[in-house]
Amino acid sequence: TVGRKEDHEEPSEVEGPAFAGVVFNRPLDTVFTYRVPTRLRGRLQPGHRVKAPLGRGNAAAIGYVVSTAEETHLDARRLKEIIELVDDVPLIDTTMLDLTRWMAGYYLCSWGQALDAVVPAGVKKQAGTRLRSLLTLTETGRALAERLQVREALANDQPPPTHRPRRRGSGPSTSIIDTSSSHQTTSEDPLLKVTPKQAAALLTLAGSNEPLSLVDLCRLAECGASAIAALKKSGYLAVVMRRGDTLGPSSEGDKVVVPPPSPDPPANPVSRPLLTPEQTATLEAMAPRLESGGFATFLLHGVTGSGKTEVYLSAIERVVARGREAIVLVPEISLTPQTIRRFRRRFDRVAVLHSHLGDAERHRHWRDIASGAIQVVVGARSAIFAPTRKLGLIVIDEEHETTFKQETVPRYHARDVAVKRGQLEGVPVILGSATPSLESWRNAQLGRYTYLEMSNRVESRPLPPVTIIDMRHEKPEPGRAPGGLSAPLRDAMRRALNDDGQVILLLNRRGFHTYIHCPRCGFVLKCDSCDVALTHHKTRGKVVCHTCDAERDPPPICPECQGGRLSYMGIGTERLEREVKAEFGDRVVRRMDSDTMRSSASYEQVLNSFKEGKIDILLGTQMIAKGLDFPNVTLVGVINADTALHLPDFRARERTFQLVAQVAGRTGRGQREGRVLVQTYSPDDPAIVHASMHDYVHFVEQELPERSIRGYPPYGRIVRLVARGPEEQVVRGFLEQVLEAIRRRAVPGVASMGPAPAPVAKIRDLYRYHAQLRADTAKPLHEALRWVVGEITPPSGVELAIDVDPVSM
Ligand code: ADP
Ligand code: ZN
Repeated sequence: TVGRKEDHEEPSEVEGPAFAGVVFNRPLDTVFTYRVPTRLRGRLQPGHRVKAPLGRGNAAAIGYVVSTAEETHLDARRLKEIIELVDDVPLIDTTMLDLTRWMAGYYLCSWGQALDAVVPAGVKKQAGTRLRSLLTLTETGRALAERLQVREALANDQPPPTHRPRRRGSGPSTSIIDTSSSHQTTSEDPLLKVTPKQAAALLTLAGSNEPLSLVDLCRLAECGASAIAALKKSGYLAVVMRRGDTLGPSSEGDKVVVPPPSPDPPANPVSRPLLTPEQTATLEAMAPRLESGGFATFLLHGVTGSGKTEVYLSAIERVVARGREAIVLVPEISLTPQTIRRFRRRFDRVAVLHSHLGDAERHRHWRDIASGAIQVVVGARSAIFAPTRKLGLIVIDEEHETTFKQETVPRYHARDVAVKRGQLEGVPVILGSATPSLESWRNAQLGRYTYLEMSNRVESRPLPPVTIIDMRHEKPEPGRAPGGLSAPLRDAMRRALNDDGQVILLLNRRGFHTYIHCPRCGFVLKCDSCDVALTHHKTRGKVVCHTCDAERDPPPICPECQGGRLSYMGIGTERLEREVKAEFGDRVVRRMDSDTMRSSASYEQVLNSFKEGKIDILLGTQMIAKGLDFPNVTLVGVINADTALHLPDFRARERTFQLVAQVAGRTGRGQREGRVLVQTYSPDDPAIVHASMHDYVHFVEQELPERSIRGYPPYGRIVRLVARGPEEQVVRGFLEQVLEAIRRRAVPGVASMGPAPAPVAKIRDLYRYHAQLRADTAKPLHEALRWVVGEITPPSGVELAIDVDPVSM
């Protein structure tokens, strides 16, 4: 191989750094220095993955080269040597190295852990780049297939097919490496010799534009492998080697790669609407950064339906026009065909990164992006690491969404990583929301972000009037679920439906009954493995744990006192669906929650039917609350606005405000006016009152002082520690030790609370304790906690999670 040849070269000719700093995907806060073997010098670069011996056993581990050096202050003879390169080209560029180093420092993990999270699994595996052997017709095979086609056509009494020119398997882009050697020649007409199965295989290949794999060919032709083997032996079929994607590493030499067809329809610039004055003003405010680059963060606060997406599209157009690329992050749930179409209609080369991508597809996108072939990357959280070449803009839509926070190591927030990336690459970042996070709002107040407001809906559509229904005064009616459809909501639904409008109902709880207890002894039916109440799912006939998904049969009597009959309480989406169907029997009702929407296909299908007016009432969990744009929705009903209001989380109110404001924004988006009814048991809560008036600013002004008094974000920073393990005493003892060690360090300005049982004290048989550290800024927290990375070894079975800027408590 190439490597061996270089081994024989004289050392004096060797160029390139002799030492490399390598980090590993382990909780080790160290950059390890290795010697670079002669054969790799000059080839190895920062960003390469390498195999290197690690630890006492010297087992080979895969790590990332983060630096190279000509010299080291360490004793070079004692250093271990890198074994080999894993990839031909570096996977990570220098900006990404900087970004991941920042992440490791900020989110308190190791650099290797941060790097490993940035590169998708499919890229690490080089998925889809393996050469596959495919079958194609040889010249004689094609001639025979054409004769077979004629024979078939005559047998069916149809005109024989005219001979279209076909793409040959032996064209310049594919090399035939295995033509059969035993080419048979016989005096007998081959047409008479082929069996029906062989004929089917030949015809299938003749009808396919592409070479086919053995498996596909057998399936399509309904023949066995022996028929194919016989055809190969007779010289009718040849094997070609091919890659699944365009940009394979060049090291494959002469085995040429065939690009798959591009699925994007051509972009159509005609579909661009005339911008509203607010949209124009917003764009103009950003114009200098869009046109000549430079870092800035814009907080685009635009009410629902104000045309934020249109602003993003126009902003992207400006950077694309000067050959730059854009990354757009949206919550996974908003990656609907509707959203994707809006981008595809405006740009030719769009890559969509969602969580359903297979490894090979993800790898292909990664390399398309890295090669500069993509203009716009649209994706969920991890798309912030897209390896663009000439980034010009980052957009985070719905920047307040908690799904931008990753809940495994590294526990990063994609919005904050985006701002950092924008800073490192010198490009503008747009954060858009109708209900900005208080963190972003505060950053705008402090002048770190430029605040841009769009307070009107396009075409001067009004925001829908919201009516609060005080459920404390709604009398329970016989035969109806308490807390279900109130009389005013039923009336409003009837009116909306009679006017040919569509209705959206939000209930952020799935299942039928949400609570099962024994009125005699007070027992509450809980999961065996988790500290959570079970939910009754009537269609499945089971009680289910929403935390670990375990399900079982409902017990016939109270398992505690063995006498009481269990009482089933509460209302989830399943029960609401039944209520609505009973009430509006002649209407088409669909439920949308994670029980009914098991696949993204069913989700898309329901959204399409709703759009086409084939569904009258769409009800569901928060899945239906966000981002949807259906002009014919004239009524939104919130069944219980309080589901998140009393959670032990200082952001409970902010979340409630956001959810109600967002779902209210789903109506009145077209020519027709909309209205919203909000059922609540807390009609005076500021979150509900202000959301009902679409009054973000007053909500914030009310909420901020409370945060300030308690030192909570956005005024202070929080790090949450969660320890979990199978033995409660051990978990608590360990977290106590960690906290003690932290307190002994006595970093000024750091306050600590805990440990205490976590709000959900047990999940999947693991006990959970948590603690909280608070400070006015991030720096002292980092100082108090940095040493924990790599230095703390929890007892066996126990894990410690360090969550910087947690979004849920
Ligand atoms: P937001 O993201 O702020 O909720 P969208 O960008 O989805 O708003 O716009 C809401 C609706 O208004 C969409 O149907 C969009 O196509 C339409 N729209 C946006 N801007 C304009 C405009 N300038 N003229 C006409 N329609 C517009
Ligand atoms: Zn459970």
